[in-house]
Amino acid sequence: MNPHIIDLRSDTVTKPSPAMRQAMFEAEVGDDVYGEDPTINRLEIRAAELAGKEASLFVPTGTMGNVIATKLLTEHGQEVICDSRAHILDWELAMVSWFSGCVIRAVETEYGVLTWDKIKGYVKPVGPHWSATGAIALENTHNMAGGRVYPQEVIDDICDRAHAQGVKVHIDGARIFNASVATGTPVARIAEKADTVMFCLSKGLGAPVGSMVAGPKHLMDKGRLLRKRLGGGMRQAGILAAAGLLALEDGPAQLAEDHQKAQLLKTRFEQLPNVTVLPVETNIVIMDVSATGRAPKELSAALKARGVIMNGVNDKLMRAVTHRDVTQAECSAAADAFAEVLAG
Ligand SMILES: *Cc1c(COP(=O)(O)O)cnc(C)c1O
Repeated sequence: MNPHIIDLRSDTVTKPSPAMRQAMFEAEVGDDVYGEDPTINRLEIRAAELAGKEASLFVPTGTMGNVIATKLLTEHGQEVICDSRAHILDWELAMVSWFSGCVIRAVETEYGVLTWDKIKGYVKPVGPHWSATGAIALENTHNMAGGRVYPQEVIDDICDRAHAQGVKVHIDGARIFNASVATGTPVARIAEKADTVMFCLSKGLGAPVGSMVAGPKHLMDKGRLLRKRLGGGMRQAGILAAAGLLALEDGPAQLAEDHQKAQLLKTRFEQLPNVTVLPVETNIVIMDVSATGRAPKELSAALKARGVIMNGVNDKLMRAVTHRDVTQAECSAAADAFAEVLAG
């Protein structure tokens, strides 16, 4: 990639730091399908600890983590409740149905945040005419709603009431460390009442590859088999886990800065004519550009010509994501470029 390009497409674009590359170089490895990769084993113990769960599983992608978790928490023919713009619904190739054999029940929300009040009318017991609810999936932070953070009491309340009806709860916590930093709540506390949680090492935390899914040991044991079925038995993947361990150690402390950079973008974008910026709580900035009379695709192309890459989400919204490989000054330059594009 051209070093002068300012890449705000996603926090997945972060490259491994020199320390990570060194750790990868030195990683002790073994065959993980036999459970013999010491670095993966360390990562799985550490991730479980941070998530406050008995065990965890290293998976190649967050998508695979969500797929394994929803399969573990449901039976064929059940429903999974999530919000209408959830990653598991919009960006995971219908794996809830394709792999788990479940139907998604999508619930409208303002900013991706479900509440028990919104969910309760859709929760169904076993009956002769409908599919029962198997699980509820909460996305924290919420990607398409602009990095929204769930209030802790809302998560706790949903978990308590769901469990009272025998319904499980999964947290799609791809960016749960951003939620943790934004609220000062440990990840283990955020996920305390949820059955399973997935989080990505490969986003703001900076690892090149990998996500974790955490939960009770008996479920993670089953999850290991599902991971193999999905083609995720990765052998000497300790070279990846070594980067993941560093991501967990050093990554969270850097996220506060990403959030500051997102606030800078928000402040600057708000000054652009006819651009409406959604509330920004973490590292994702979503803005509605429909009033500019220009399509996100067209604006993206014009920005790219000025060295800034930022994608449209749909025909109205554009998204900018801050991360450790973009500086405050580059964020500022990106906003300047946007102003030029809109003036031109
Ligand atoms: C990125 C992301 C995932 C997983 O993505 P992968 O690209 O498969 O690692 C899952 N959920 C949310 C909310 C995400 O943003």
